[in-house]
Amino acid sequence: MSNDLEIVKCTNLKPKPEKDQIPFGRTFTDHMFIMDYETDKGWFEPRIIPYEPITLDPAAMIFHYGQTVFEGLKAYRSGDRILLFRPEKNFERLNRSSERLSIPPIDEERVMEYLKELVSLEKDWVPSTPGTSLYIRPYIIATEPNLSVAPSHTYKLMIILSPVGSYFSGGLTPVKISVEDKFTRAVKGGTGMAKTAGNYSSAYQAQAKAYKDGNADVLWLDGVEKRFIEEVGSMNIFFKINGEVVTPALNGSILQGITRMSVIELLKKWDIPVTERKVSIEELYQLSEKGLLEEAFGTGTAAVISPVGELNWQGKKIVINNHEIGELSQKLYDTITGIQTGKLEDRYEWTIAVK
Ligand SMILES: *Cc1c(COP(=O)(O)O)cnc(C)c1O
Repeated sequence: MSNDLEIVKCTNLKPKPEKDQIPFGRTFTDHMFIMDYETDKGWFEPRIIPYEPITLDPAAMIFHYGQTVFEGLKAYRSGDRILLFRPEKNFERLNRSSERLSIPPIDEERVMEYLKELVSLEKDWVPSTPGTSLYIRPYIIATEPNLSVAPSHTYKLMIILSPVGSYFSGGLTPVKISVEDKFTRAVKGGTGMAKTAGNYSSAYQAQAKAYKDGNADVLWLDGVEKRFIEEVGSMNIFFKINGEVVTPALNGSILQGITRMSVIELLKKWDIPVTERKVSIEELYQLSEKGLLEEAFGTGTAAVISPVGELNWQGKKIVINNHEIGELSQKLYDTITGIQTGKLEDRYEWTIAVK
Protein backbone atom coordinates (compact mmCIF):
# COMPACT_ATOMS: atom_id res chain seq x y z
CA MET A 1 0.00 0.00 0.00
CA SER A 2 2.64 2.51 1.01
CA ASN A 3 5.41 1.13 -1.21
CA ASP A 4 5.82 4.55 -2.84
CA LEU A 5 7.05 5.81 0.53
CA GLU A 6 10.75 6.65 0.70
CA ILE A 7 12.39 6.30 4.12
CA VAL A 8 15.69 8.01 4.95
CA LYS A 9 16.77 6.99 8.43
CA CYS A 10 18.57 9.21 10.85
CA THR A 11 22.04 8.11 11.94
CA ASN A 12 22.40 9.74 15.34
CA LEU A 13 19.30 9.42 17.45
CA LYS A 14 18.36 12.06 20.04
CA PRO A 15 18.13 11.20 23.75
CA LYS A 16 14.54 10.46 24.87
CA PRO A 17 13.14 12.79 27.57
CA GLU A 18 13.07 11.83 31.25
CA LYS A 19 9.91 9.95 32.21
CA ASP A 20 7.80 12.62 33.83
CA GLN A 21 9.45 15.77 32.59
CA ILE A 22 7.93 16.25 29.20
CA PRO A 23 6.74 19.83 28.63
CA PHE A 24 4.02 19.97 25.97
CA GLY A 25 5.07 20.43 22.37
CA ARG A 26 8.76 21.22 22.67
CA THR A 27 10.43 17.85 22.12
CA PHE A 28 10.28 16.19 18.72
CA THR A 29 11.22 12.70 17.60
CA ASP A 30 14.03 11.75 15.20
CA HIS A 31 11.97 11.60 12.00
CA MET A 32 9.19 13.50 10.23
CA PHE A 33 6.90 12.79 7.30
CA ILE A 34 6.70 15.17 4.34
CA MET A 35 4.87 15.14 0.99
CA ASP A 36 4.52 17.83 -1.68
CA TYR A 37 1.67 19.04 -3.86
CA GLU A 38 1.66 20.79 -7.21
CA THR A 39 -1.49 21.51 -9.19
CA ASP A 40 -0.39 19.42 -12.21
CA LYS A 41 1.03 16.51 -10.23
CA GLY A 42 -1.26 16.17 -7.21
CA TRP A 43 0.38 14.96 -3.98
CA PHE A 44 3.79 13.40 -4.66
CA GLU A 45 7.07 12.17 -3.14
CA PRO A 46 5.85 10.94 0.24
CA ARG A 47 8.92 10.51 2.43
CA ILE A 48 10.05 9.96 5.99
CA ILE A 49 13.25 11.86 6.65
CA PRO A 50 15.30 12.95 9.68
CA TYR A 51 13.52 15.74 11.64
CA GLU A 52 15.08 18.95 10.36
CA PRO A 53 14.31 22.60 9.52
CA ILE A 54 12.67 23.23 6.15
CA THR A 55 13.47 26.01 3.68
CA LEU A 56 10.70 28.22 2.34
CA ASP A 57 10.70 31.24 0.06
CA PRO A 58 10.02 34.44 2.06
CA ALA A 59 7.06 35.02 -0.27
CA ALA A 60 5.55 31.59 0.54
CA MET A 61 1.81 32.12 0.82
CA ILE A 62 1.52 30.59 4.30
CA PHE A 63 3.38 33.61 5.73
CA HIS A 64 1.05 36.17 4.22
CA TYR A 65 -2.53 34.93 4.21
CA GLY A 66 -2.42 31.98 6.59
CA GLN A 67 -3.52 29.26 4.18
CA THR A 68 -2.90 26.29 6.48
CA VAL A 69 -4.73 23.55 8.39
CA PHE A 70 -3.69 21.11 11.11
CA GLU A 71 -4.76 18.10 13.16
CA GLY A 72 -3.92 16.71 16.59
CA LEU A 73 -4.15 13.10 17.75
CA LYS A 74 -2.20 10.75 19.97
CA ALA A 75 -0.50 7.34 19.98
CA TYR A 76 -0.74 5.44 23.28
CA ARG A 77 1.41 2.63 24.62
CA SER A 78 -0.42 -0.53 25.58
CA GLY A 79 2.32 -2.91 26.69
CA ASP A 80 4.16 -3.83 23.47
CA ARG A 81 1.41 -2.43 21.28
CA ILE A 82 1.00 1.15 20.10
CA LEU A 83 -2.61 2.29 19.64
CA LEU A 84 -4.08 5.18 17.65
CA PHE A 85 -7.54 6.48 18.67
CA ARG A 86 -9.99 6.94 15.75
CA PRO A 87 -7.26 8.39 13.50
CA GLU A 88 -9.44 8.15 10.36
CA LYS A 89 -11.68 10.81 11.94
CA ASN A 90 -8.71 13.18 12.08
CA PHE A 91 -7.92 12.77 8.40
CA GLU A 92 -11.61 13.23 7.50
CA ARG A 93 -11.60 16.44 9.52
CA LEU A 94 -8.30 17.56 7.97
CA ASN A 95 -9.97 17.33 4.57
CA ARG A 96 -13.00 19.28 5.81
CA SER A 97 -10.71 21.99 7.17
CA SER A 98 -8.78 22.00 3.87
CA GLU A 99 -11.94 22.43 1.87
CA ARG A 100 -12.80 25.53 3.91
CA LEU A 101 -9.29 26.95 3.32
CA SER A 102 -9.26 26.08 -0.43
CA ILE A 103 -6.48 23.52 0.09
CA PRO A 104 -6.57 20.35 -2.08
CA PRO A 105 -7.69 17.16 -0.29
CA ILE A 106 -5.37 14.31 0.67
CA ASP A 107 -6.04 10.61 0.09
CA GLU A 108 -7.03 9.73 3.66
CA GLU A 109 -6.23 6.02 3.40
CA ARG A 110 -2.83 6.57 1.84
CA VAL A 111 -1.83 9.15 4.44
CA MET A 112 -3.04 6.80 7.19
CA GLU A 113 -0.55 4.19 5.93
CA TYR A 114 2.27 6.77 5.96
CA LEU A 115 1.33 7.80 9.50
CA LYS A 116 1.43 4.17 10.66
CA GLU A 117 4.90 3.75 9.09
CA LEU A 118 6.13 6.90 10.84
CA VAL A 119 4.73 5.93 14.26
CA SER A 120 6.10 2.41 13.85
CA LEU A 121 9.58 3.78 13.10
CA GLU A 122 9.35 6.07 16.18
CA LYS A 123 7.78 3.43 18.47
CA ASP A 124 10.43 3.85 21.15
CA TRP A 125 9.37 7.48 21.54
CA VAL A 126 5.89 6.53 22.82
CA PRO A 127 6.29 7.00 26.58
CA SER A 128 4.98 4.41 29.04
CA THR A 129 4.16 6.34 32.26
CA PRO A 130 0.37 6.45 32.84
CA GLY A 131 -1.18 9.50 31.22
CA THR A 132 1.67 10.06 28.74
CA SER A 133 1.47 9.62 24.98
CA LEU A 134 3.00 10.58 21.66
CA TYR A 135 1.25 13.64 20.22
CA ILE A 136 0.86 13.58 16.43
CA ARG A 137 0.62 16.84 14.49
CA PRO A 138 -0.26 16.54 10.78
CA TYR A 139 -0.46 19.92 8.97
CA ILE A 140 -0.54 21.45 5.52
CA ILE A 141 1.00 24.79 4.49
CA ALA A 142 0.74 26.84 1.27
CA THR A 143 4.24 27.19 -0.18
CA GLU A 144 3.93 29.06 -3.49
CA PRO A 145 6.04 32.27 -3.58
CA ASN A 146 3.29 34.66 -4.60
CA LEU A 147 1.72 37.69 -2.91
CA SER A 148 -1.57 37.41 -4.80
CA VAL A 149 -4.61 36.99 -2.58
CA ALA A 150 -5.59 33.60 -4.07
CA PRO A 151 -5.08 29.91 -3.25
CA SER A 152 -1.54 28.58 -3.60
CA HIS A 153 -0.67 26.14 -6.39
CA THR A 154 1.83 24.28 -4.18
CA TYR A 155 1.62 22.82 -0.64
CA LYS A 156 3.48 20.66 1.83
CA LEU A 157 1.85 18.11 4.12
CA MET A 158 4.02 17.32 7.12
CA ILE A 159 3.60 15.11 10.19
CA ILE A 160 5.72 15.69 13.28
CA LEU A 161 5.61 13.74 16.56
CA SER A 162 6.11 14.97 20.11
CA PRO A 163 6.11 12.93 23.34
CA VAL A 164 3.78 14.52 25.92
CA GLY A 165 3.45 14.16 29.68
CA SER A 166 0.31 13.61 31.68
CA TYR A 167 -2.16 16.49 31.42
CA PHE A 168 -3.34 15.94 34.98
CA SER A 169 -0.36 14.73 36.97
CA GLY A 170 -2.28 14.40 40.23
CA GLY A 171 -5.55 12.93 38.85
CA LEU A 172 -8.43 14.89 37.31
CA THR A 173 -8.64 18.46 38.63
CA PRO A 174 -11.63 20.76 38.02
CA VAL A 175 -10.62 24.06 36.39
CA LYS A 176 -11.94 27.63 36.42
CA ILE A 177 -13.05 29.00 33.06
CA SER A 178 -13.73 32.61 32.12
CA VAL A 179 -16.76 33.31 29.90
CA GLU A 180 -15.59 35.76 27.22
CA ASP A 181 -18.12 38.47 26.39
CA LYS A 182 -16.01 40.89 24.33
CA PHE A 183 -13.82 38.98 21.88
CA THR A 184 -15.25 36.53 19.32
CA ARG A 185 -13.62 33.27 18.23
CA ALA A 186 -15.77 32.46 15.24
CA VAL A 187 -19.11 33.16 13.60
CA LYS A 188 -21.39 31.08 11.40
CA GLY A 189 -19.96 31.11 7.89
CA GLY A 190 -16.44 31.80 9.18
CA THR A 191 -13.65 29.30 9.84
CA GLY A 192 -14.65 28.07 13.32
CA MET A 193 -15.32 24.54 12.08
CA ALA A 194 -11.78 24.27 10.64
CA LYS A 195 -8.55 23.61 12.52
CA THR A 196 -6.72 26.55 10.99
CA ALA A 197 -3.98 28.74 12.48
CA GLY A 198 -5.80 32.09 12.63
CA ASN A 199 -8.54 30.79 14.93
CA TYR A 200 -5.94 30.19 17.63
CA SER A 201 -3.68 33.26 17.43
CA SER A 202 -6.77 35.49 17.44
CA ALA A 203 -7.72 33.96 20.79
CA TYR A 204 -4.49 34.89 22.61
CA GLN A 205 -5.73 38.26 23.90
CA ALA A 206 -8.83 36.72 25.50
CA GLN A 207 -6.69 33.87 26.82
CA ALA A 208 -4.27 36.31 28.48
CA LYS A 209 -7.17 38.15 30.13
CA ALA A 210 -8.56 34.86 31.46
CA TYR A 211 -5.17 33.71 32.83
CA LYS A 212 -4.66 37.04 34.60
CA ASP A 213 -7.76 36.35 36.69
CA GLY A 214 -6.67 32.81 37.54
CA ASN A 215 -8.74 30.99 34.94
CA ALA A 216 -7.35 28.04 32.99
CA ASP A 217 -9.13 28.89 29.75
CA VAL A 218 -11.80 30.87 27.90
CA LEU A 219 -15.40 29.79 27.23
CA TRP A 220 -16.51 31.39 23.96
CA LEU A 221 -20.01 32.70 23.34
CA ASP A 222 -21.65 33.07 19.94
CA GLY A 223 -20.30 36.01 17.97
CA VAL A 224 -23.65 37.66 17.22
CA GLU A 225 -25.68 37.81 20.45
CA LYS A 226 -22.92 36.88 22.94
CA ARG A 227 -25.43 34.61 24.66
CA PHE A 228 -25.06 31.06 23.40
CA ILE A 229 -22.22 28.79 24.53
CA GLU A 230 -19.80 27.68 21.80
CA GLU A 231 -16.70 25.91 23.18
CA VAL A 232 -13.51 26.31 25.22
CA GLY A 233 -10.05 27.18 23.72
CA SER A 234 -9.36 23.76 22.24
CA MET A 235 -12.10 21.74 23.87
CA ASN A 236 -15.82 21.20 23.30
CA ILE A 237 -18.06 21.62 26.33
CA PHE A 238 -20.77 19.52 27.99
CA PHE A 239 -23.17 20.22 30.87
CA LYS A 240 -25.10 17.73 32.99
CA ILE A 241 -28.42 19.36 33.78
CA ASN A 242 -30.91 17.57 36.02
CA GLY A 243 -29.80 14.13 34.81
CA GLU A 244 -29.58 15.06 31.13
CA VAL A 245 -26.37 15.82 29.23
CA VAL A 246 -26.40 18.87 26.95
CA THR A 247 -23.75 20.13 24.53
CA PRO A 248 -23.93 23.02 22.04
CA ALA A 249 -25.14 21.82 18.63
CA LEU A 250 -22.64 22.04 15.74
CA ASN A 251 -23.49 25.25 13.93
CA GLY A 252 -20.51 25.87 11.63
CA SER A 253 -18.56 27.96 14.13
CA ILE A 254 -17.78 25.14 16.60
CA LEU A 255 -14.99 22.63 15.98
CA GLN A 256 -16.34 19.10 15.61
CA GLY A 257 -14.26 17.29 18.23
CA ILE A 258 -13.56 13.59 18.00
CA THR A 259 -13.64 13.34 21.80
CA ARG A 260 -17.03 15.15 21.69
CA MET A 261 -18.30 12.59 19.15
CA SER A 262 -17.00 9.71 21.30
CA VAL A 263 -18.65 11.10 24.47
CA ILE A 264 -22.00 11.44 22.69
CA GLU A 265 -21.73 7.87 21.35
CA LEU A 266 -20.85 6.48 24.80
CA LEU A 267 -23.72 8.33 26.51
CA LYS A 268 -26.15 6.90 23.95
CA LYS A 269 -24.82 3.37 24.57
CA TRP A 270 -25.24 3.93 28.30
CA ASP A 271 -28.83 5.17 27.84
CA ILE A 272 -28.00 8.53 29.38
CA PRO A 273 -30.08 11.23 27.65
CA VAL A 274 -27.84 13.54 25.58
CA THR A 275 -29.01 16.52 23.54
CA GLU A 276 -27.16 18.75 21.08
CA ARG A 277 -28.84 22.15 21.22
CA LYS A 278 -28.36 25.87 21.84
CA VAL A 279 -27.49 26.62 25.49
CA SER A 280 -27.34 30.20 26.71
CA ILE A 281 -25.14 31.46 29.51
CA GLU A 282 -28.22 32.96 31.27
CA GLU A 283 -29.85 29.53 31.21
CA LEU A 284 -26.77 27.99 32.85
CA TYR A 285 -26.71 30.76 35.46
CA GLN A 286 -30.37 30.20 36.32
CA LEU A 287 -29.97 26.42 36.42
CA SER A 288 -27.04 26.75 38.77
CA GLU A 289 -29.08 29.07 41.06
CA LYS A 290 -31.72 26.33 41.23
CA GLY A 291 -29.09 23.66 41.91
CA LEU A 292 -29.76 21.85 38.62
CA LEU A 293 -26.37 22.35 36.96
CA GLU A 294 -24.78 19.12 38.13
CA GLU A 295 -21.57 18.80 36.11
CA ALA A 296 -19.60 20.55 33.38
CA PHE A 297 -16.63 19.20 31.45
CA GLY A 298 -14.53 20.00 28.43
CA THR A 299 -13.55 17.35 25.86
CA GLY A 300 -10.49 17.25 23.63
CA THR A 301 -7.49 15.13 22.67
CA ALA A 302 -5.14 16.93 25.09
CA ALA A 303 -6.97 16.35 28.39
CA VAL A 304 -9.66 13.90 27.14
CA ILE A 305 -12.15 15.03 29.86
CA SER A 306 -11.48 18.22 31.80
CA PRO A 307 -13.98 18.84 34.64
CA VAL A 308 -15.03 22.47 35.05
CA GLY A 309 -15.45 23.63 38.66
CA GLU A 310 -16.29 27.27 38.06
CA LEU A 311 -17.48 29.62 35.31
CA ASN A 312 -16.77 33.34 35.66
CA TRP A 313 -19.17 35.52 33.72
CA GLN A 314 -19.60 39.29 34.06
CA GLY A 315 -18.45 39.30 37.67
CA LYS A 316 -20.74 36.39 38.55
CA LYS A 317 -19.31 33.11 39.72
CA ILE A 318 -21.08 29.88 38.71
CA VAL A 319 -19.71 27.14 40.96
CA ILE A 320 -20.31 23.62 39.66
CA ASN A 321 -20.53 20.52 41.85
CA ASN A 322 -18.72 22.29 44.67
CA HIS A 323 -15.48 22.30 42.62
CA GLU A 324 -15.45 18.51 42.74
CA ILE A 325 -15.13 15.98 39.93
CA GLY A 326 -18.53 14.73 38.83
CA GLU A 327 -19.29 11.03 38.73
CA LEU A 328 -20.12 11.10 35.02
CA SER A 329 -17.01 13.13 34.14
CA GLN A 330 -14.86 10.56 35.94
CA LYS A 331 -16.62 7.61 34.30
CA LEU A 332 -16.20 9.11 30.81
CA TYR A 333 -12.53 9.83 31.51
CA ASP A 334 -11.88 6.31 32.79
CA THR A 335 -13.72 4.71 29.88
CA ILE A 336 -12.12 6.72 27.07
CA THR A 337 -8.58 6.59 28.47
CA GLY A 338 -9.11 2.88 29.23
CA ILE A 339 -9.95 2.21 25.58
CA GLN A 340 -7.13 4.46 24.33
CA THR A 341 -4.51 2.59 26.36
CA GLY A 342 -5.92 -0.89 25.77
CA LYS A 343 -6.84 -1.42 29.45
CA LEU A 344 -10.52 -1.75 28.59
CA GLU A 345 -12.00 -3.85 25.82
CA ASP A 346 -12.43 -1.77 22.66
CA ARG A 347 -16.03 -2.73 21.86
CA TYR A 348 -16.53 0.05 19.38
CA GLU A 349 -13.37 -0.60 17.32
CA TRP A 350 -12.06 2.89 18.05
CA THR A 351 -8.38 1.97 18.22
CA ILE A 352 -5.95 0.89 15.50
CA ALA A 353 -2.76 -0.94 16.43
CA VAL A 354 0.50 0.10 14.78
CA LYS A 355 2.90 -2.75 13.99
C1 LIG B 1 -9.05 20.28 18.40
C2 LIG B 1 -10.12 21.11 19.00
C3 LIG B 1 -11.15 20.56 19.79
C4 LIG B 1 -11.17 19.12 20.23
O1 LIG B 1 -11.17 18.19 19.22
P1 LIG B 1 -10.71 16.70 19.51
O2 LIG B 1 -10.84 16.04 18.18
O3 LIG B 1 -11.64 16.15 20.52
O4 LIG B 1 -9.30 16.76 20.00
C5 LIG B 1 -12.18 21.40 20.21
N1 LIG B 1 -12.17 22.70 19.91
C6 LIG B 1 -11.19 23.28 19.19
C7 LIG B 1 -11.25 24.73 18.89
C8 LIG B 1 -10.13 22.50 18.73
O5 LIG B 1 -9.15 23.07 18.03
